[in-house]
Amino acid sequence: MDGIAGFDFLGHHIQQFSTSKYKSARNAHGTILGFKTLITPTKDACKRHQIKIKEVVKKHKYSHQALLIEELNPIIRGWVNYYSNTDAATVGELSRQDYLLYQKLRAWGRHRCGNLVDARKKYWIKIGNKNWVFATRQGNANPLRLLSHTEFGSSSTKYVKVRGEDSPFNGKLVYWSTRMGISPDMPSRKASLLKRQKGVCLWCCLHFREGDILEEDHVLARALGGKDIYNNLQLLHAHCHDAKTALDLSYIRDNSLKEHLKQVNKELNKYNWFWKDDILCIHGKSNGSDKGRYIE
Ligand SMILES: [Zn+2]
Repeated sequence: MDGIAGFDFLGHHIQQFSTSKYKSARNAHGTILGFKTLITPTKDACKRHQIKIKEVVKKHKYSHQALLIEELNPIIRGWVNYYSNTDAATVGELSRQDYLLYQKLRAWGRHRCGNLVDARKKYWIKIGNKNWVFATRQGNANPLRLLSHTEFGSSSTKYVKVRGEDSPFNGKLVYWSTRMGISPDMPSRKASLLKRQKGVCLWCCLHFREGDILEEDHVLARALGGKDIYNNLQLLHAHCHDAKTALDLSYIRDNSLKEHLKQVNKELNKYNWFWKDDILCIHGKSNGSDKGRYIE
């Protein structure tokens, strides 16, 4: 043995740490094992990532901020996605990466502005409740923003392992679509809606089960001005969809009645009308007498 605990595998460092019985992992029978396993990016991998970032920042010493951000974003996204099912966030590796990146950008800004105060004013802005976002200033337009490592943070304990010989081809359509957002036997729009809704029907708040009939529904009905876009879609049970449609229809009826009354009002206002014994009368155009035409 090399005297170092754990082992490295494809850029991951896997190591078991002894813990108290409350934090310990358990085996399939619920027995306390006395340790937990942490999977983290290896030291080498972290270093390589920072070297890559350093090269990009150096390359863009004299370029516009947008070019630098455009080249850094895919690098950050790719690296964090690769380690998305590890404990990188748990052990603070992601925030460390953000800090190291910030140091490089600070030096970059100082080099361009001559001092830090101006650099901070020029290259860092407040977006939402985040005060320190490295982003371009473009008035009210969407600023181009540098991604941070921490915003993709996750933990291996959140990742539910696929058991035994399970696979997306074993027929559990709803489970796999919800899990992956894609499934070989399900239309991609339905599958991605399932993933977005976490497998729950938004009408009855119950989980979809295998064999349920799933129907797409417009959150705001087309007849009420809803658009046929992804954000306006939801997946419902067939029977929930019926209930929703019934409600939609009553809104549509109310709406069309209102529209109809508006039209009638508009037409009426063209004439000189009056009430006579609770009957609506309109002055006739030809004789101009009190005896109008009656409408119901
Ligand atoms: Zn339902």
